[in-house]
Amino acid sequence: MPDNCEVNRAFLQVTGLFKRYGRVTALSGVSMSVNAGEVVAITGPSGCGKSTLLRCINRLVEPDAGEVVLDGVPVTSLGYPGLRRLRSSIGFVFQHFNLVRRLTVIENVILGAEMSCEASRTCRDEVEARAARALDRVGIPRSLFLRRPDSLSGGEQQRVAIARAIAMDPKLMLWDEPTASLDPILVQEVLDVMEDLIEKEHITMLVVTHEMRFAARAATRLVLLDHGKIVEDGSPAKVLCSPTSELGRRYARLAQTLACGAAASNV
Ligand code: ADP
Repeated sequence: MPDNCEVNRAFLQVTGLFKRYGRVTALSGVSMSVNAGEVVAITGPSGCGKSTLLRCINRLVEPDAGEVVLDGVPVTSLGYPGLRRLRSSIGFVFQHFNLVRRLTVIENVILGAEMSCEASRTCRDEVEARAARALDRVGIPRSLFLRRPDSLSGGEQQRVAIARAIAMDPKLMLWDEPTASLDPILVQEVLDVMEDLIEKEHITMLVVTHEMRFAARAATRLVLLDHGKIVEDGSPAKVLCSPTSELGRRYARLAQTLACGAAASNV
């Protein structure tokens, strides 16, 4: 876990988020306050609203009610130009990578680098250098830079997607089940990259994940959602050792089975 995270002020404030899709209520009044440098793991049963919560934060999904304020910017009341600027400062890692198949690996990452360089009109050489550094950062060798995403393994593709996000030099990273579509054998290589970023980059992160060992070891905070509501919110040690909800107790038992307790108690 990061040892010098800056946790002095609410960096992200989510207040009373509601979202319905037809008759389905995905979020039912979610509020949370995240300090700069925190790494918040968000978990809960399938369909409980995790992905919707993440997507309401950068308005890939429009909430029906509620407010999101990021670093003083009122996200939920931004018009399109402001939203576009804001999104260029938020890295989003999708479950299914969302790489552009017709572009090469380096071109995909340049898309991320260009987003953050647009405002500063950084020259082409710097954009390419930034993309190459991001790929180096996630361990993608130069021999793969000119390949198309489809010719890489799932783990490599997700690492390219992570490089695209960090090439944006984001102030917030949102991860939507980044290992859920990978073979078990490839999950660890992506988790290793994530843990390394957490340890060294100190970026504020919200990570939707079912990887409880990772959450216990790497997150500063664990949030449990159930039916569109937060039912647990605290350090992994607190949530996994002294849960207050029925779902929290089920996760605590699961964590014991997976031997997450020792990891969590170090958090
Ligand atoms: P999770 O990420 O926890 O699996 P989601 O946020 O994806 O949950 O979904 C919450 C609920 O909203 C689920 O019942 C899901 O089926 C529903 N839902 C999500 N997206 C849509 C959509 N675009 N249209 C209709 N229902 C949706």
